[in-house]
Amino acid sequence: MGNSSKNGAKQEMQEAREKQKKEERYKVKLICMRCGFEKTEMYDPNADEEKICPKCSSNSIRIKKV
Ligand SMILES: [Zn+2]
Repeated sequence: MGNSSKNGAKQEMQEAREKQKKEERYKVKLICMRCGFEKTEMYDPNADEEKICPKCSSNSIRIKKV
């Protein structure tokens, strides 16, 4: 029983370290590979989202750091 609480503390420490590793948002240029639509926006590298072109709905978006 006593062991379970110790393991929990260890896991919390690991999670805190993971958080520090994460990158901050940066400015990127999104370029649609299908229609050539370009857009500059703040990109969050930690967000697990798919970029979709607002013009042609293609998900072939190239992300270029600016
Ligand atoms: Zn497009």
